[in-house]
Formats: sequence, C-alpha cells, structure tokens
Amino acid sequence: MTSSEWEWAPGTSRDHVEQVTKFHRDALAVPMERRIRLADPGRHDFPIGLDEADRGVVVADRTVPWQERVLGCMLAGAVGDALGAPIEFLPIDMIRRRYGTAGVTGLGEDGPDGTVTDDTQMTLFTLEGLIRAHVRLRTARAADPVPIVQHAYQRWLHTQGVEWALAGGPFTDGRDEPDGWLVTEPRLFERRAPGNTCLTALRAFAAGEPAGSFVNRINDAKGCGGVMRAAPAALWSTDPVEVFALGAATAALTHGHPSGYLAAGALAFLVHGLLTSSPLPATLASLAKVLRRWNGHEDQLARLEAAVRLADEGRVSPDRLAEKLGGGWVGEEALAIATYSVLVTDNLADALCVSVNHSGDSDSTGSVCGNLAGAYYGVRAIPPTWLNHLEMRDVITMLSEDALAEFGQRPPGDERWAWRYPGR
Ligand SMILES: [Mg+2]
Repeated sequence: MTSSEWEWAPGTSRDHVEQVTKFHRDALAVPMERRIRLADPGRHDFPIGLDEADRGVVVADRTVPWQERVLGCMLAGAVGDALGAPIEFLPIDMIRRRYGTAGVTGLGEDGPDGTVTDDTQMTLFTLEGLIRAHVRLRTARAADPVPIVQHAYQRWLHTQGVEWALAGGPFTDGRDEPDGWLVTEPRLFERRAPGNTCLTALRAFAAGEPAGSFVNRINDAKGCGGVMRAAPAALWSTDPVEVFALGAATAALTHGHPSGYLAAGALAFLVHGLLTSSPLPATLASLAKVLRRWNGHEDQLARLEAAVRLADEGRVSPDRLAEKLGGGWVGEEALAIATYSVLVTDNLADALCVSVNHSGDSDSTGSVCGNLAGAYYGVRAIPPTWLNHLEMRDVITMLSEDALAEFGQRPPGDERWAWRYPGR
C-alpha cells in the first residue's frame, strides 16, 4: 500500500502527510547511490540551547569507522539488554541487595550472565527484515520495507512457540516453515518475557487483521516494545527524516499510541545521527524539530527535554531519575532514560550502568541506551569481558556484518545470499 491510498485521519497535519508520503515515495524508488550514508554534520544547529560545549559532553572520536559504530549499536544494545535482564522487575533496593550498593556493574563473574531478552531478539528480526527489504529493493527496484519487517516479526512470533501455519499469516504462502537463515538459529527459540502487546498484535495480524499503521492504529499501546527494537531503521537511508518515519512505521505494526511509535522513530533518528558522528546534543536538537511535525509528539518531546534538564544536574539517584523520567515501561520514558544515561556519562560502560540501575524496565532502557552509546562510541568501547559473556554474540555480529555488506557499495548477489536473505 502506498501513502496515496491512505485515508488520513481527521486533524492529521499537512506536514505529517507530506512526511509519510515522502517516506513511501522514497522507499519505492530510491536510487542506489543514496544508500551511502555520509551525513553533512554542518546541517545540525542548536535551536533549543543544547550546545555541546556548554554541556561539557565529550565529543565522540570522529575517527571511529562507520562499521565499528554499526557493530557497536547492535552489540552494545544486546549488552545493555543483558545487563538489565535479571533486574527488569526489581526495585532499586532489591538490585542493591543482590549486586551491592553500585548495583549491576558488568556482565559475568558476580554480575548478570549475559542472557538477552525479547528486546535483542526483536531487534535482530528488525535488522534481518530491513536487509531482506533492501535485497528486494535492488532486485525488484521496488519495495515498501514495512510489510517485509512485519514478515520478520511473524518469524519472531514463530520462535516464541507459535507454529508457522498460525504465526505466518499471509506470508506462509503454502510453506511449512519460515525462510531465511536467522530463524534457523535454535538459540532464538527462547521465551524471554516477551511483551504481550507484541504477541497479541502479531497473532491478530496472522489471523487476518489488517496491519497496524499510523492510520490503522490497532490498539492504544504506548509500551516500550516498539522503541526497543527500532534502532536498525537508522541504516535504511541517508535521510534522517525518512529513518524516523520508518522506525515509527515498524513500531506502529504493534503499538498504536503515538508514544509507542514516535519513540521508535526518535530512536532511529538519534542512532542515525550518532552513526554519522554527530554528537548526541546536536542530534537531539535536530530531532526536536522533526518530532514537532508529528501528531501526538508532546509527551515524547517533554520527556526528552526533561532528560536534558536532568543531565544538567549530573548523576542523580535512581529515585530522582524515576521521579523525572519515569520507569521506562512506556516508549517515551525508555528513550528519555537511555538519552539521559548517555548525556550524563563520558563512556559506554558508565552509560549502560546508569541506564539499568533503577526500579523500572531495566532491560529495555539498557538496550536502547546500548543502541545509542554503541553507535556513538563504537564496538571497541564495549568492555571485552562483557562481550565474552554475551549470549548470541556470534549471531548478532554476523547479522550486523551482513547488514554492512547489504547496505554497502557492493551488496552480494550470489545464490547463498538469496537463500539467506529472500527479498520478501
Ligand atoms: Mg525484554
């Protein structure tokens, strides 16, 4: 479906219509040369006073190569997920009783064992879906990435114990098994407290309900299940506005409240900026302008502004963090906590520790923080001992390197690639 076929909800702003229309137009006919991502750092400005020098934020080493940033985004996201996984449902005093007064300070030894959750699983399927959408784009010269990502999420649903005949919906197409290599990885077939919103929405789609979108809002869910899987959308385009729209559209497949899907668009936008070595304060300032064009953006923008103000206070207590930014259970809060954690620290390990040691949804705030910090500092900034303990490190690395190949200058075109990443 293209945007021209949509019926716009009453009150939808012209900007919004133009933005989504542009997104679909671009997605349908994007020249290959636009796949080379080199942002112009000169275009960022600081309209809301977020000058990086004022803030004392360490500017990322601009020599960190793009490849290391992409790997960093994916692997640090998984590390953050694993750091938060055993404390997701624990209040801060319980976390301290279990791990000491500093809370969780690393993976392995006395810390969490490196087991990841649904946040990492679903992020992998988002990335795989986008690789496959890009294969489709360059082989068929036309592809809307959103249905292909939906197909990927139906494969994730299958890994959660739903047989393919019931999970695949329109994508089963007479086949007994899902296709592609990722879903053949047995370690993905684990239920790690999967979000009910995602499970319910994907089951409904498989049963014949129309796909969720900005127009067909399938529920009023504003949980963080949309944002925690959205980072890979940053790879899709050189245009951060298009990246925002794609991140939001993939989240709207399961989350119908603006706070659920705009947080996802915002994360993709921020990751896009950080991958191209724009510092976080500058990227946040650019984001504010884009976010304002979307209906229902007020809560997300307010939370991000609160995160910036809180970072001015320095490292605050977990109680103060919860008071100002919430628990991270909803999309806008998860993004705000992750953003605060990166702003208030000057290295990846500290950012991740700040992002998980609070009474809220620690695995998701850790995962989102890892996406941001990894894109900013690169993969080498992740403590090696943490990586050694990370579950499915090999799978995450392989998929990320495949994404670099597919989105690079010379994407593979052999039969094996076509088997690994069918263009649908
Ligand atoms: Mg989780």
